[in-house]
Amino acid sequence: MTASPVLFFVDASGFLRADPREPQVNVTDWGATRGDGIFESISVIAGRMPALAARFDRLEASAGALDLPLIDRSIWTTALARAIETHEAVDRLAVTLVMTRGVENADSSPTAWLLARPARDFTAIRRRGVSVVTLDRGYASDAADGAPWLLLGAKHLSYATNAAALREASRRGADDVIFTSTDGLALEGPTSSLIVRRGDLVETPGVETGILAGTTQATTFGFFESKGYRTRFAGIRAADLSTCDALWLVSSVRQAVAVHTLDGRAMPVDDALTAELNSWLSDEARPE
Ligand code: PLP
Repeated sequence: MTASPVLFFVDASGFLRADPREPQVNVTDWGATRGDGIFESISVIAGRMPALAARFDRLEASAGALDLPLIDRSIWTTALARAIETHEAVDRLAVTLVMTRGVENADSSPTAWLLARPARDFTAIRRRGVSVVTLDRGYASDAADGAPWLLLGAKHLSYATNAAALREASRRGADDVIFTSTDGLALEGPTSSLIVRRGDLVETPGVETGILAGTTQATTFGFFESKGYRTRFAGIRAADLSTCDALWLVSSVRQAVAVHTLDGRAMPVDDALTAELNSWLSDEARPE
């Protein structure tokens, strides 16, 4: 066992351990110079990996969207298991899987790696919630149809715009963002899916709007269904968010975070329900 992050480079023939404290990626790698690649984040919570298969499904869908070859899932999962057993035991590990187009030359193959390290502690944010601003993403909710090269819905490495939106939120005194489309729909956060509750109806925007298919969103729907709520994918008008009974941003490592303020206005928050949802997302409260 080791206290430092555990890194494996992965390819079609297997995986090899490397030292994460040493430089490892070539300076001409398309992932480093153009953000041309894909990634996934896997949460390991007390040894359990909620929604693991869904994350591999999405990794493969992202590879398809970017015309990257697949690495056999069994190689990734064996490397993942080895990384977890090699890493010092911690409550929560965050494991990042990355695949880039490789280095700049015609016949290069993808660069792929898996990095396991302790997850950032989001306990306080889960308890406190976040203030959010809505920001225009700059395209219509049907943009993905006519422009697949925008790679909407793929978990690609080009997150500079998402990071810029978070900096804009911070300049406006907020913690996070809900993106909106030019035709007025609420979409997702820069690193999270949006969940909306009105009475006993729980909704999230559909993936046809160009958002990422959230694995935590899917598990969140399971939670609400187990409690008798109705769930559905729907076009959610940004203008209607402020009259909802509750809003959450959900993602795999941060889990569910209630939105307590939207564009400067207080939103209703149910701390007990949020805590229950988070224990479901950690797998603790879920039936076998
Ligand atoms: N939407 C975006 C843009 C994201 O980056 C993420 C997570 O990184 C999500 C949604 C939530 O996805 P998941 O719940 O699978 O972590």
